[in-house]
Amino acid sequence: MRARPRRCPLVSVMEEGKMSDCCDGERTVLLYACSGGANVAEIADRAARELMFAGRGSMFCLAGLGAGIEGMVQTARDADLNIVIDGCPMDCAKRIFDKAGVTNCTQFKVTDLGIEKQKGVRCTQEQVDMVIDRAEEAIRQA
Ligand code: SF4
Repeated sequence: MRARPRRCPLVSVMEEGKMSDCCDGERTVLLYACSGGANVAEIADRAARELMFAGRGSMFCLAGLGAGIEGMVQTARDADLNIVIDGCPMDCAKRIFDKAGVTNCTQFKVTDLGIEKQKGVRCTQEQVDMVIDRAEEAIRQA
């Protein structure tokens, strides 16, 4: 059973509307999920949020990158590491990074962990935990 994630100390700063980064040791780690409509996208989204609340990084708005909001693109460029979690081989989140020309990212796909993409199916905590473990491995290795 996974321990309940601790609250990120910087979340209160973010809740006040001031954008802030969380760190992994000395590094600024930003977390992105494709957050689409399928179960695998829900898994990616929930994993990114749980990682944020566990203090492993700061979830950042993929839509802002997709919209080309310069300050948000620059924040991604300035990060030490952007973890990009896509649900499936369509690679929507990674393609947004590619379009924005942001290269300091590590991407993986939920379907690569053996989880089938389905519509109209809620994800399970076990699936979310699998993605959290994979993301933590990516953070360690990057
Ligand atoms: S990567 Fe796959 S699951 Fe995620 S938004 Fe794109 S099509 Fe949907």
